[in-house]
Amino acid sequence: MNTFIATSIFDIFKIGPGPSSSHTIGPMKAALAFRRSLERLSADILAQVDSLDVALYGSLSATGLGHGTHKAVLGGLLGWTPEGCDADRLLALFAKEGAEYEIVIGGCKISFRAENIRFAGAGERLHYQNTLLFTARGGDRDIQTGEYYSIGGGFILEKGERARCPPELPYPYSNMNDLRRLVEERHCSLDDIILANEEKLADRSRSEIQAGLDRILSAMLESVKNGLAVDGVLPGPIGLKRKARALHRHSRAVSDSHDRFLAALNAYTLAASEENAAGRKVVTAPTSGSAGVLPGIAALLRRHFKLPRKELRKGLVAAAAIAFVARHNASIAGAEVGCQGEVGVASAMAAAFMTHVHGGSIRQMENSAEIALEHHLGLTCDPVDGYVQIPCIERNALGAVSAYNAYILAMVGDPLRQKVSFDQVVEAMRITGKEMSKKYKETAEGGLAVCTVHC
Ligand code: SF4
Repeated sequence: MNTFIATSIFDIFKIGPGPSSSHTIGPMKAALAFRRSLERLSADILAQVDSLDVALYGSLSATGLGHGTHKAVLGGLLGWTPEGCDADRLLALFAKEGAEYEIVIGGCKISFRAENIRFAGAGERLHYQNTLLFTARGGDRDIQTGEYYSIGGGFILEKGERARCPPELPYPYSNMNDLRRLVEERHCSLDDIILANEEKLADRSRSEIQAGLDRILSAMLESVKNGLAVDGVLPGPIGLKRKARALHRHSRAVSDSHDRFLAALNAYTLAASEENAAGRKVVTAPTSGSAGVLPGIAALLRRHFKLPRKELRKGLVAAAAIAFVARHNASIAGAEVGCQGEVGVASAMAAAFMTHVHGGSIRQMENSAEIALEHHLGLTCDPVDGYVQIPCIERNALGAVSAYNAYILAMVGDPLRQKVSFDQVVEAMRITGKEMSKKYKETAEGGLAVCTVHC
């Protein structure tokens, strides 16, 4: 791909309800976009709308119930946003059987029930597998339709939408090789490059961007703190008990410092992942399913190494750069490339975060990300019962530990002797994902999802 990377940091790091960015944040944004399209209709046309139907396809159909897609869709139709919505109110939607909601748009009131959402199957002939079709009807006539695609990480596309022409960027790059050369040849820091581009992309000043990064960091640390404060069982039929709080207590009780440190990292990561599984607010990093890895590492650096927020903000910039390259040249969606694109990329982001805040060079940062992603290649997405719980929660913890290990390996090795580049491992992920059976791409039709039922 020859186009330049034009993704904003705040498109990678989005605050929103769990448990799956492509199944909750993306669909909520799609439903909100459809609502906005209805708001643009003239009052007399809008007054004719008497029903609203939504069809979900692909993995939205296969695992949508477990991922809370129906609630997210209704939330969006009600005008809620992922960052602004109240997680408790969202979780309560459709909790009562036969519940009926009133969607008010302009002067028009449309009744909406669970039956208005159809889990419509694979949708083989659709342009993109995770498709949402919205239809507003008046009598037996379609008044307005909308077709949206949830393309992973909370990103959406509308049918026929043309790619936005990005502004001219001060530092254009398409891959890690370009980015490294910009740093080395122009003697710029990675932060200067990413933040200068961000100023153009997001049309924000440097101080506004720093404030935005602070908000993201706070939301990440908050998800860890909240997850450490609760016990109990996660929603859904599995009956999975939260573990983070107990592990955190254990980490404080053990005397051996190494065990303590590892147990704490696991506890922080589990805490944010359990919050995600419970449908609470998390930060996509790069997705909600993998939203425990980076907060786990950030909490470790903040709580144990007392790193100031300024340093952690720098870490977020490095992590974003890794996600940009992975998304631009392969994918960060479990529905496209399996879990290698979610927890694998999250682990690479966290490794880069660690390396960057500890003063590693651009090559060491790249190498740490490469090592972390390399050892997640081929990882399938097979959530049991379609819930982002097993294997997702523990997988986040292992992704964080791998990130730490990748950082150590990259910092001690000669960075020039690394045999595999980050771009090469991203390409390997893309090809592996392309060849992976769709059973292993967030459909709950293969792997662990099936074995735990049938084996
Ligand atoms: S297995 Fe990985 S990609 Fe699939 S839902 Fe869980 S965290 Fe996301």
